[in-house]
Amino acid sequence: MTTISANLQAVHARIAAACAACGRDPAGVLLLAVSKTWPAAALREAAACGQHAFGESYVQEAVPKIAALADLAAEWHFIGPLQSNKTRAVAETCAWVHSIERLKIAERLSAQRPAGLPPLQVCLQVNVSGEDSKSGCAPAEAAALAAAIAPLPNLRLRGLMAIPEPTDDEVLLRSRFALLRELRDELKRRGYALDTLSMGMSHDLETAIAEGATIVRVGTAVFGARNYSQDSV
Ligand SMILES: *Cc1c(COP(=O)(O)O)cnc(C)c1O
Repeated sequence: MTTISANLQAVHARIAAACAACGRDPAGVLLLAVSKTWPAAALREAAACGQHAFGESYVQEAVPKIAALADLAAEWHFIGPLQSNKTRAVAETCAWVHSIERLKIAERLSAQRPAGLPPLQVCLQVNVSGEDSKSGCAPAEAAALAAAIAPLPNLRLRGLMAIPEPTDDEVLLRSRFALLRELRDELKRRGYALDTLSMGMSHDLETAIAEGATIVRVGTAVFGARNYSQDSV
């Protein structure tokens, strides 16, 4: 068995155990393999083990990799910071964007989504850590952003995403994930059909699942430690 296949099995076992601990069905948690910095060959290996969904954070890296792996028919999720001059490539190649924090980016993605592709599935990224994190809209802004984005014709608003600040404080971490869940529930009460909570990574996926994560974004535990100096294509 290769390292990646063993790692994938171990992550699936962690997801199953976390779901069992809180009475959830593991079928309700998607494993998104975060493949940034990893070469196409590593993704092929994961795909050969049945991994279907991959997350990328850098447009320049993702575009050639997605082209090189077109034969895999994988599902591509963009999870990194997105600038307006890079939206077109994402609109043309990805199925999901998790990191929407501004209306302008959403408007561009909707306008640039090619006819013939299904709507782009999107999550609003919310800053659940206050001043400790700069990415994401403020929790108090999420409802207004959802109201502006929901009508965009070529997007489908699916839920919320967060990256809590790194911490060893399990109680604090859990409260960050709980905040995202409560915000999602509040938006649902306002009428948005949100079924997605994108939260939890290699070190904290169990806590995220306990608070309702439906997508866990896992890089290191699947592929190993990242080396940012390597050529990723
Ligand atoms: C890199 C990254 C991950 C994966 O982190 P790991 O700790 O390697 O599992 C998840 N989400 C986002 C947004 C990332 O950029």
